[in-house]
Amino acid sequence: MNVRKSHRAAGFVLKSLAYGESDLIITFYSREFGKMSGIAKGAKRSKKRFANVFEPFSQISMIFSRKSRDTLALVESCEIIDHYADIRADLEKTLAASYFIELTDAFSPEGKANERLFALLADFLDWLVREKVSDTAIRFFEMRLLQISGFEPALGACVRCRKPVANGEVYYFYPKEGGITCAACARPERYDQAVSAGAVRTLLLGRDMDMEKMKRVSMPESLAAESRCILCGFITYVLGKEVKSLKVLEQVRRYCP
Ligand SMILES: [Zn+2]
Repeated sequence: MNVRKSHRAAGFVLKSLAYGESDLIITFYSREFGKMSGIAKGAKRSKKRFANVFEPFSQISMIFSRKSRDTLALVESCEIIDHYADIRADLEKTLAASYFIELTDAFSPEGKANERLFALLADFLDWLVREKVSDTAIRFFEMRLLQISGFEPALGACVRCRKPVANGEVYYFYPKEGGITCAACARPERYDQAVSAGAVRTLLLGRDMDMEKMKRVSMPESLAAESRCILCGFITYVLGKEVKSLKVLEQVRRYCP
């Protein structure tokens, strides 16, 4: 028999897409079910049932039903847990939250629960409520997301000769090889950018650091540029495209300091 089973799940809205005249297709990341999509019938019209709940990065609780794991869920009801008004009141924070959401969406396969990924998103949205957007927060989010989703770059040692990272040395990051090489093993082309042991060590530190300690880490400009070069280069390589929301965030941060 084909019975629709009802479930309750709490999580974050990744995106919503208008479907037809009155429906919305919602993509959502929940603790219990991982990434999933559902249709909210009449959501564009029914302000009462679905008042603004489907905005990106809202934390919501919903009841949905579906025939099987592979079919689109039917959203039956939905309520907001946290709309993150403090983040939405600040353009930079809104763009940072949108970047976190876009990365989570890009790195999470449909239907695979990952408690750590859910916690990462929750922790970093809470961080944005309390703290200003910083290079540290953006890079540490990327580093942790890559680790949790199984794409952690190898930064502890040279991927060719296996020599551990040593202070004062210079390294090159090769996205194709998934990690760094020491200067002796590298054959840098003219456009390859060297990165310092300091940048590499900061990212390794950020991977495991307690959230509370994070606010004490400030990256000098050179370190921020090198860390960005490593992680953004790698993310672009893995996804095969640039992440749009990061570009917008960086433009805004550059012009509205
Ligand atoms: Zn080497």
